[in-house]
Amino acid sequence: MKYLGKFFHPRKKVTFYGLYDFDENLVFPIESIFYPNITGEPFNFNQLHPVLCVNPSKIVGIGKNYKGHVQEFQSEVPEEPIIFLKSTDSIIGPNDKIILPMNVGQIDYEGEIALVVGKKAEKVSEAKALNYILGYACANDITARELQKKDGQWARAKSFKSFCPFGPWILPVSEYPKYNNLTLKTYVNDKPVQQVKSSSMIFNIPYLVSFISQAMTLYPGDIILTGTPYGVGPLKRNYKVQIEIEEIGTLTNRVVGETSTKSSNSSNEELSTVS
Ligand code: MG
Repeated sequence: MKYLGKFFHPRKKVTFYGLYDFDENLVFPIESIFYPNITGEPFNFNQLHPVLCVNPSKIVGIGKNYKGHVQEFQSEVPEEPIIFLKSTDSIIGPNDKIILPMNVGQIDYEGEIALVVGKKAEKVSEAKALNYILGYACANDITARELQKKDGQWARAKSFKSFCPFGPWILPVSEYPKYNNLTLKTYVNDKPVQQVKSSSMIFNIPYLVSFISQAMTLYPGDIILTGTPYGVGPLKRNYKVQIEIEEIGTLTNRVVGETSTKSSNSSNEELSTVS
């Protein structure tokens, strides 16, 4: 399998877009994730660290797209996709820290399959929707749950800095067109907490892309978060959270408090346990 991403070479202190050949364990420098023409000699993957590889103009989230998750919130299965916008400031890369804001109550992880838009998409049909998607990646749609319930609108609860871990790289649709055959798993401190197949989405990937594009124009690099399955739960300071898509790899992020002072961290933990 071949993946698109961005990589940091610590010894050479350079960051570059790369085509990661998993079988050869090599990363070839490329012009960009949208123009993957090879521009130089490959590096051994083991010498590199993956970094954030997208810079979206918007992040579109989908609410309640798996029955199990709808049931855990005693909610109704939606008749059409629920879409919301999440601030682009929230995006972070693999191994970046998740920062728990203070005084906002419980903060939950939501393991999700992310889509990266590859071409400008405006009112595209379901049949052609996949042509506009560059690929899939792992994402975490972190949510301040109590703010979400209190506000009604979800924008604030979803948009804090570091609330959208993304990566570690992108599996191109051209490499793996079987959008309904991805396996998503979430681990908290190495314990499995979520697992689902993309085939159990209420609204599948082409439907979502077509639906969103009726309302707003999608641009290359925009991110769609396709919804989380059953098993969401709280994050606390020092937790490790991992989102894995079997066909792609694992996105790992650790959780820190907003400040390093003892008193504010302990008050944050206390609030995090309120549900
Ligand atoms: Mg979500």
